[in-house]
Amino acid sequence: MTLPSHLIPSWIKRRKIWIALECRCEICGEEFHQDHTLLHYIPGSDVFSQKEEKLVEESILMLCLACHREIHARKISVVEQLKIVNSRSPDIREQIRRILSYHPKAYTPPDIDIEQQYEEAKQVTQLIFGV
Ligand SMILES: [Zn+2]
Ligand SMILES: [Zn+2]
Repeated sequence: MTLPSHLIPSWIKRRKIWIALECRCEICGEEFHQDHTLLHYIPGSDVFSQKEEKLVEESILMLCLACHREIHARKISVVEQLKIVNSRSPDIREQIRRILSYHPKAYTPPDIDIEQQYEEAKQVTQLIFGV
């Protein structure tokens, strides 16, 4: 099962999660560069809180590409996957939760038509200075 694209955490968030997990794959425990890891979503787990539709700490695993392939080849059961989540230290769990719940303020462009504003300003200038 793939995560709906709007729920995939940003690169920055994924990076923070990767750092929180000490840059290690949660299955094999090996250290990996972030480019060689994937955020796996545990199928059937309570992916997001129903009302807010957001990803929760309990439903994700940071994995290396090889372990991720293994998971999707059904070599690691969902029960095993949830056991890995539960074996995280309380500190790491808290860190991941905080990362996932952090929402930077989105930039909202001002509700004006720049071109029109420019034209208006030009007219005003012409009135004042007669250019
Ligand atoms: Zn691995
Ligand atoms: Zn996956």
